[in-house]
Amino acid sequence: MGAIGIFAEIIDNTISNSLGSMVEFGLKVKEASGSELVLFAVGQDMKEKEAGLKAAGVDRLVLMDIPGVSYVQTDKLSCAVAELLDKVEFSTILVPASHTARSLFARVAMKKNIGMTADCTDLDTEIIDGKPVVHQIKPSFGAQIMVTCDVEGDSEIITMRTDDQVVPDLSGDPVIEYVEFSGADSAIEVVDFEKNDSVNSLHSAEVVVCAGRGAMDEERFDMVKKYAEKIGAVVAGSRPMADNGWIPFENQVGQSGTVIRPKVALTFGVSGAIQFTEGLKGNPLIIAVNSDEHAPIFGFADYAVIADMSEVLPELLK
Ligand SMILES: Cc1cc2nc3c(=O)[nH]c(=O)nc-3n(C[C@H](O)[C@H](O)[C@H](O)COP(=O)(O)OP(=O)(O)OC[C@H]3O[C@@H](n4cnc5c(N)ncnc54)[C@H](O)[C@@H]3O)c2cc1C
Repeated sequence: MGAIGIFAEIIDNTISNSLGSMVEFGLKVKEASGSELVLFAVGQDMKEKEAGLKAAGVDRLVLMDIPGVSYVQTDKLSCAVAELLDKVEFSTILVPASHTARSLFARVAMKKNIGMTADCTDLDTEIIDGKPVVHQIKPSFGAQIMVTCDVEGDSEIITMRTDDQVVPDLSGDPVIEYVEFSGADSAIEVVDFEKNDSVNSLHSAEVVVCAGRGAMDEERFDMVKKYAEKIGAVVAGSRPMADNGWIPFENQVGQSGTVIRPKVALTFGVSGAIQFTEGLKGNPLIIAVNSDEHAPIFGFADYAVIADMSEVLPELLK
């Protein structure tokens, strides 16, 4: 019986905030299956990261140090992870459903010929014929229904949607092992990084202003941004806003975007499709501005402002 693996993602040489949530998923499977729980990570300066990865309940920490590697070099990292998987026998590999980890593990899945289920929200472990079977639960058909998936074969990769505000308990004492990387070049050369600070601040923001397609106009979006600045809020938006380049993809709220837990969310020109509202968790106070009185967002919001935002925003800015 293989171990349960949790991939600890290293982003920009820092342990990702998804760790706490990933460990929770791993512990849930460990409890139901009795399997060994192994946390693994690849990146640079791994020795310095050991303390930040000693999550309580984890039996083994398997690390691979690759000097100078960047988390965007998914071609090189996928070779490294594939080598690590040759050394440790996993039956289930849990991976955060971040853009980078999904891209990395799609390559790993191809290299190792392992089936992969993406974007799961929960897991349900059952013992069948003495062997643990981890069922994967995920929203499908535009989040209209939840489906349960199983992967055929001896192992599986599952990407999990995480709550990045779960703080890991780092009081564990796992056995620590290093696996040597035999070396592979990357076709990706990192020339420069343009830091998008709003991504990190979106996760911790107490107040978020979400712009929808109705704000897709220079003047209107400019007022939305000015208003957000005025009240100290972070600007996020719906998928059309990201698809059309008005906001970075990372700031898209929703099922295929980011899940956030602000205290207050103000929406401007967002219709309120379920794929958008799926991204607003933690029961925030929602104030919605929309010119259509029948917009679904009004069935979700606490306060409804039925008005054209071109009239509302100048008043708010005063
Ligand atoms: C698999 C899948 C995943 C998806 N994932 C996501 C996701 O993660 N996030 C997401 O957002 N969507 C997602 N979508 C898309 C989703 O279904 C909707 O199409 C999208 O959320 C609509 O965005 P919107 O509300 O900005 O635009 P629209 O639905 O076009 O709504 C625009 C709103 O603006 C209002 N409006 C227009 N002008 C004004 C004005 N001047 N003042 C005030 N109000 C105005 C209109 O009345 C309308 O209600 C997904 C879809 C699928 C199928």
